[in-house]
Amino acid sequence: MTGISLLGPSFCTQYGYFPGKHMPPQKLQLTMVEYLPCLIYNSGLQEDESRTDCPLDRELLGRNTWSFLHTMAAYYPEKPTLKVQSEMTQFIGLFSKFFPCDDCAKDLQKSLETNVPQTKSRHHLSQWFCQMHNQVNRKIGKPEFDCSKVDERWRDGWKDGSCE
Ligand SMILES: Cc1cc2nc3c(=O)[nH]c(=O)nc-3n(C[C@H](O)[C@H](O)[C@H](O)COP(=O)(O)OP(=O)(O)OC[C@H]3O[C@@H](n4cnc5c(N)ncnc54)[C@H](O)[C@@H]3O)c2cc1C
Repeated sequence: MTGISLLGPSFCTQYGYFPGKHMPPQKLQLTMVEYLPCLIYNSGLQEDESRTDCPLDRELLGRNTWSFLHTMAAYYPEKPTLKVQSEMTQFIGLFSKFFPCDDCAKDLQKSLETNVPQTKSRHHLSQWFCQMHNQVNRKIGKPEFDCSKVDERWRDGWKDGSCE
């Protein structure tokens, strides 16, 4: 990846700006100054990410894993049985042991000691994952995500219809 990637995947993608989606800045509610770096970043990504048959680096593993975790939470039952709640808690505990990024997994396990997974409803689980993700964002200097928008991002699509 080129030096321009330092401008940051999260800066660009938190607005839903993904490779191949050339949306006008007005629609993304970005100024041109914010939009141009993403445009440059995006062109770099298209080059590098044309390969889909290479081992994942930490960034790609992280991005794909968050996609899975947030989507899983988005489709978790509204009213899970106690058994399902307990299974989800177990899943998260086991996931934290096997996540193949050693220092990420260690920090996650430490965090789980005080941040018990909130599994009593879809809303609780989605918000809990959002907060866990924000904890990592803060740690690695990425912008925090507005957790009130988690359903728009991971389940319903943005209110402006840009995902349709
Ligand atoms: C459990 C876990 C722990 C990790 N720990 C580390 C670590 O210790 N050190 C490290 O360098 N990397 C870690 N990573 C990877 C890191 O979090 C990012 O995935 C990686 O840096 C790629 O970032 P990104 O900018 O592509 O966006 P990501 O952070 O991967 O986010 C993907 C998309 O999710 C959305 N999003 C962002 N924040 C939230 C949120 N709070 N809630 C809901 N949606 C959100 C945005 O639309 C964003 O584009 C971890 C990943 C996981 C899954």
